[in-house]
Amino acid sequence: MKIQYLGTAAAEGVPALFCECDNCKKARKLGGKNIRSRSQAIVDNTLLIDFPADTYMHFIAHDIALYAIKSCIITHSHQDHLYVDDIRMRANGNFAHVTDTEHPLTFYADRAGYEKIKDKTDTMSKKDADAVLITPYESFEAEGYKITPLRASHAPKTSPVLYLIEKDGKTLFYSHDTGKYNDETMNYLENLERPLSLVSFDCTSVCNDNIFSSHLNFAECVEYKKIFLEKGIADEKTIFVINHFSHNGKHVNHNELKDIAASEGFLSSYDGMEVDF
Ligand SMILES: [Zn+2]
Ligand SMILES: [Zn+2]
Ligand SMILES: [Zn+2]
Repeated sequence: MKIQYLGTAAAEGVPALFCECDNCKKARKLGGKNIRSRSQAIVDNTLLIDFPADTYMHFIAHDIALYAIKSCIITHSHQDHLYVDDIRMRANGNFAHVTDTEHPLTFYADRAGYEKIKDKTDTMSKKDADAVLITPYESFEAEGYKITPLRASHAPKTSPVLYLIEKDGKTLFYSHDTGKYNDETMNYLENLERPLSLVSFDCTSVCNDNIFSSHLNFAECVEYKKIFLEKGIADEKTIFVINHFSHNGKHVNHNELKDIAASEGFLSSYDGMEVDF
């Protein structure tokens, strides 16, 4: 399996849209991997995770054949993960000319995201875009993956879920956005058939004290790594990644964060990073 990170920032981006803070000034000056756009990833160039406004620049920057994507799983309805207005751009013959007219782009989301998406797809042809309602802890299939949404500890009105994505004996745990895991999710993880292959942790506060109950910081990611290993949720082969960073976070710039992350056995994500596992 392969994950490619397309966007690795929290809602405001790094540099943040209207910000003059030192982290943002530094990111603008350094450029490259220090520029972080809004949250999105793609698995095996096939399964899209989230649909932020920055989807547009991601498809250009990383040469993604977006017209060929058939499935997009949505973590929650915050706008840095779901920008519904661009769904209209999939309307074939009008905003787009799509050769494969048999396979719509189907969005999978829990209630809040589903309602927002459906509001758009209801006015479109089912051949262009569609919405499927998912339920936490109930697995479904898309693109040959077994996908299980787990309830996240995040703004409840956004119906937030984390995703376990399984194929060919590998399991990816895409854990964004969330604070400390609730008991039901922790219990689900403890009863997995096999250790996780790759864990992508929420690290919004980076190296600051965590000021958000609905996100994690690096110290908490380190603690969860320890817990996952102790409980057999992960093993020595598991790849640990930190992702979804706020410009407020100390050491948010990739040049600084990569070594700090590596010292605790983590990869620090950057826009465009690919991990094969
Ligand atoms: Zn977010
Ligand atoms: Zn800033
Ligand atoms: Zn969020």
